[in-house]
Amino acid sequence: MTIIIRDTTIVTSNPQRELLYNSAIVVDGGEITDIGPTEEMELRYSGCELIQGRGKVIFPGLINCHTHLLATADKGILEDYGFPTTLRFPTTGRGLLDSDESNIFALLACIEAIKSGTTTLLEISSDIFEYAESLNSTGLRLLLAENLTDVDGSRSKQLAGGFRRVGAFKFSEAKRDASLRKGSDLIEAWHGKSEGRILGFVGPHAPETVSPELLKASKLMADDYAVGYTIHLSQSYKEIEIIKDLRGVLPTRYLYDNEFLGDRLVAAHCRHVDSSEITLLGRSQSSISHNSAIGARRGAAAPIRELLSAGCTVG
Ligand SMILES: [Zn+2]
Repeated sequence: MTIIIRDTTIVTSNPQRELLYNSAIVVDGGEITDIGPTEEMELRYSGCELIQGRGKVIFPGLINCHTHLLATADKGILEDYGFPTTLRFPTTGRGLLDSDESNIFALLACIEAIKSGTTTLLEISSDIFEYAESLNSTGLRLLLAENLTDVDGSRSKQLAGGFRRVGAFKFSEAKRDASLRKGSDLIEAWHGKSEGRILGFVGPHAPETVSPELLKASKLMADDYAVGYTIHLSQSYKEIEIIKDLRGVLPTRYLYDNEFLGDRLVAAHCRHVDSSEITLLGRSQSSISHNSAIGARRGAAAPIRELLSAGCTVG
């Protein structure tokens, strides 16, 4: 069925980034088939269903390139007490969710995304399998990355701040193998599903919680499946301190040394990268997820101009 949304403002993503006023957009079978002045479109496509768009704006769907949807269960805690929370809870809000509750909180996050005009999410989490079907049911475009780590200890302990001490970081081959298996199981099950609306991604967690072996294996998995991959990077001074102690270099250099950087990488945060790291990220054409809300809470932003001029894509 053909629908015309009439008399509205259209924000285009054409090279000129034009704004079209008093315009109409024609949608046929889920695809935009024409755009132009309202009178012209109504004459050309007479008899179609008309939706009044006056006073509204149509714009391309936004892409959130770093989500943890179950963090909706931590609302009000992260905002007030930081992350990791200074409350020193033994676990997090999301750590208390059972399977049904995980699905509800994930759906709540999807509704919030849709209400904000966001149509694509890069979701990184542990056990996405539990709520992937719910995510699929929302109609959102999704990139799904299982959170991979081989640090020897529980995820909830990490999230609750139990890994603040450098000496707490030990790595486990068994955990690495199990983590990689879950990552590839997720991709096998969901990559390309719903007419390609859902894609798999590879998501090693962060420099301090991923060994060199897991970094390399993650990159290999992304290459084998021809998918993108993501990691948290340079998100806190603590991370830098830990990586300097564990690996003797800065976090980005640790990734570079393990051949992890590249044009299919989405590095999240990058708030504290220095000029040598910006050069490495730019030369490798890595993309950066600029997570502004938590940056504002922590009083630090990624050096966006420098990253852009070095050659990175920033989203
Ligand atoms: Zn994150």
